Amino acid sequence: MIGRVWVMTVALVLGVTVFSSCRPSPTSTPESGPEANKLQIVVSILPQKYFVERIGDRHVTVTAMVPPGAEPHTFEPKPEQLKALSQASAYMRIRIEFEEAWMNKFTAANPRMLVVDTTQGIQRIPISAKFQEQGETAHAGETLDPHIWLSPKLVKVQAQTIYQALVKLDAPHQAEYQANLQQFLTDLDQLDADIRQSLKGVKNRKFIVFHPGWGYFARDYQLEQVPIEVGGQEPSAAELAQLISQAKRENITVVFAEPQFSQRAAETIAKEIGGKVLLIDPLAQDWMKNMQKVASTFANIMSQRVK
Ligand code: ZN
Repeated sequence: MIGRVWVMTVALVLGVTVFSSCRPSPTSTPESGPEANKLQIVVSILPQKYFVERIGDRHVTVTAMVPPGAEPHTFEPKPEQLKALSQASAYMRIRIEFEEAWMNKFTAANPRMLVVDTTQGIQRIPISAKFQEQGETAHAGETLDPHIWLSPKLVKVQAQTIYQALVKLDAPHQAEYQANLQQFLTDLDQLDADIRQSLKGVKNRKFIVFHPGWGYFARDYQLEQVPIEVGGQEPSAAELAQLISQAKRENITVVFAEPQFSQRAAETIAKEIGGKVLLIDPLAQDWMKNMQKVASTFANIMSQRVK
């Protein structure tokens, strides 16, 4: 009995010794092994978290700055989120509004953090024709459409950038990242083909949407978005009336709205034209599943109203 207690004590002491010798900081996470070696990656929005996880898989832990349900364009990071950055290997930016004001603070919180611009290689387009027509030139630099995560074609470009960054940070797992990238690119091609197929027979390709987040999606699939809100503003009564008459004239009966934004104007228009409001989420974390759902929503609704 005494022998057994002795063996257990030795094992315990040895265990503690081994544990503390490979963990210089006893205050850090108690996990060891592969878990402790994961790359900590910070991104701005949830769809990016999906992209990085598809390529980094078991070698990454990804945190999004904008939490579920929050409106990303007016989001402001909280002070405790700066603390989380001190553990990060990389920040993958997508040039959404808050990054411009905060990136200096982010890099000051962790100067060793690699900052990766995932918009590289992507030509961004102006946010909407209506915005341009109104002569809104005061924020010339901010008129480019940030919603590049809603185009499978542009996500392929972002995936390549993410892959290159992960290889830079963790060369030993390059082969694995490359295999994951290939699979992701194949899935993106399949999604693109599926969306094309499901929208094939749709004749009236205009849709009203509260927030103009679908510019690249519309461009890729020959659709046309008519935004209600532009530049973060609810429409005036006159603008609302104009939209309603346009919808009636062009036989548009469906208004898309997004859960992150006010649905009041969308509901007013839908009521006036005898149509309905459909919620589509541009920021869901399960990006692939959400895009498939969005595509079938578009296809169902838009083909129904061809009368
Ligand atoms: Zn948006």
